Amino acid sequence: MGRIHLLSEHVANKIAAGEVVERPASVLKELLENSLDAGATRVKVQVEAGGKKLIQVIDNGCGMVRDDALLAFERHATSKIKDAEDLLNIHTLGFRGEALPSIASVARVVLETRAADEPGGTLLDIAGGKILRVEEAGLPPGTSIIVRDLFFNTPARKKFLKAESTELSHLASLVTHYALAHPEKHFELHSATHAMLVAPPVASHSERIYQVFGRETLDQLVAVASTVKLERVGIPEPPPWRRDEDYEPPVPGDMRLHGFVSKPEVQKLNRNSIFIFVNNRLIRDRLVQHAITEAYRNILPPTVFPVVLLFIELPNVEVDVNVHPSKIEVRFRQQAMVHDFVRDSVRAALMKARPVPQFTREITAQPNAAAGLSPGAGMRVAANDFALQAPPQPVMSERLQFTGGGIAVEANTAVSGFGAIPAPVMQKTLVVPAGDCGNVLAEEPQSVADELALASLKPVGQVRDSFILAVNADGLFIIDQHVAHERVLFEKILRERDQAVQEGQRMLMPLIVELTPGQQAVFAEITGELRRNGFEADLFGAKTVAVKTAPAGIDSAQVERMLLELLDQFQQEEQALNLEKVRTRIAASIACHAAIKINTPLEQTKMEWLLRELAKTECPMSCPHGRPVVLRYSVKEIQKAFKRI
Ligand code: ADP
Ligand code: MG
Repeated sequence: MGRIHLLSEHVANKIAAGEVVERPASVLKELLENSLDAGATRVKVQVEAGGKKLIQVIDNGCGMVRDDALLAFERHATSKIKDAEDLLNIHTLGFRGEALPSIASVARVVLETRAADEPGGTLLDIAGGKILRVEEAGLPPGTSIIVRDLFFNTPARKKFLKAESTELSHLASLVTHYALAHPEKHFELHSATHAMLVAPPVASHSERIYQVFGRETLDQLVAVASTVKLERVGIPEPPPWRRDEDYEPPVPGDMRLHGFVSKPEVQKLNRNSIFIFVNNRLIRDRLVQHAITEAYRNILPPTVFPVVLLFIELPNVEVDVNVHPSKIEVRFRQQAMVHDFVRDSVRAALMKARPVPQFTREITAQPNAAAGLSPGAGMRVAANDFALQAPPQPVMSERLQFTGGGIAVEANTAVSGFGAIPAPVMQKTLVVPAGDCGNVLAEEPQSVADELALASLKPVGQVRDSFILAVNADGLFIIDQHVAHERVLFEKILRERDQAVQEGQRMLMPLIVELTPGQQAVFAEITGELRRNGFEADLFGAKTVAVKTAPAGIDSAQVERMLLELLDQFQQEEQALNLEKVRTRIAASIACHAAIKINTPLEQTKMEWLLRELAKTECPMSCPHGRPVVLRYSVKEIQKAFKRI
């Protein structure tokens, strides 16, 4: 007799549960996605004990008739796709028909549901995959699913759950994500003791950010919006014999990107504040992450991360969502195109905004390791600044640490009060691009003013021969002379390097530098580019190089240090070196070593020259390593500080 047999449905469900249901947050993700797929405009989530004891999702979506409610718990039962071709064009968040049976196999589930056009609803009681009760019941339209005692019948998995607070933070992070993706919908999250998030519908993503995270976060963000027409490359089509008479070949369509990215002065020590949505599906994607890192190259130091909320929208055929059991990864059909589009759009938005860091902000907003976005804090600021109509409500002090893909959120009961934000206030804080803005990027009046402001600066002196004080009608500016010059040189070097090989200055005697094996390997890789920048050095013996010329403007005493720093930097690089990276790093390094040092007295004309040159740069707000160049103390802030307003 053969040894192979088919697994029972019950066992198969448990296996699937192993993939789909990892922790309370993965249950909630599936339930939320079902509610959104059901067209709900109100979603209320109730959790207890970090979701281990209870997760309930109540929605006002389409609901289910009795037969569907029963079918929904069968394996591979779905209303969302019919055949394999539909897999190429998925427009719902779910499609695998695996979530409900998987969840029901490892928990106690009560489903209450009523389709709007039915007189009554259905109540279903399931435990460990077995249906215990099916009843008719008088219910409001929509669906409520209660998931109790997760993993009650799989103690081994239960053991792997983290502390309640950790699981709760994942749950809160998830609801926050979906609330951000759907500003037009009402979301609520309640723990056993209090309301953690109450977000009534608002008109735009920026208003939702304001609602959830507060004004401070919103002020630190720059809007991104751009669109490209997709090329018609190899769009999958049904074979000719399966095409209807009125078949029309698919149109390539557009790819659209919108959302927000943080200004350079915002620095996070991890990626937890980067949210990427593809067709409104929250995803984790290395390709897009990489594109964002590239966009911030030389704006942020490589060890810190921005706050990013990006929505990528593209035709369903362009993205395969069927590559991961819990659908958090996707595969783009035209990867390079998506990558470059994201990188260029984000970069362009950052360049356009060119925000000069606010003096006061710079002092208070230090990089913060753990915190991502902290709504509670932001909201307190908002309440003071705007004198909202709704009175400020008490802020709960429970602080949730969002680990993994999450964010730090301060639990807050005051959120509901912000439904009353008057519309004009929102407009003042940020100009949000219209929906169909084509290639035009969002214009921020504030930042345009900054650009002009920089050009009209008059230097008045130096603080400790290191920081230039300058004034104009906008206020007082403090410029770090070293990083300002560094930025000017950096852009000049890159520009000139594009045009011709740079002549270096000859050393009096060749400088002999010893290299470790690792440094030698890097040296071999970048030697051509070094030479193009006026850095002529040859291998000399097994482990030494002889430097004959160095880039103009660099003190010969600095040459060895600069070379070794560069080699070490490249050695620490995890990813393969590409020419672009090598070029900018070398330029940044030369700029840093050739720039005016701090503790150097400058004449008036020299200061004027520096400010003029800085104003002409593409990115005057941060040095090539990402440090701020200019601090601003606006007239308004000065007046405020003197209590004149
Ligand atoms: P999938 O979402 O992949 O289709 P699920 O197991 O999550 O699979 O759900 C099975 C089916 O149950 C869905 O296709 C849908 O028709 C129905 N369903 C689930 N949740 C809801 C809900 N909240 N409202 C209405 N219908 C739902
Ligand atoms: Mg589903």
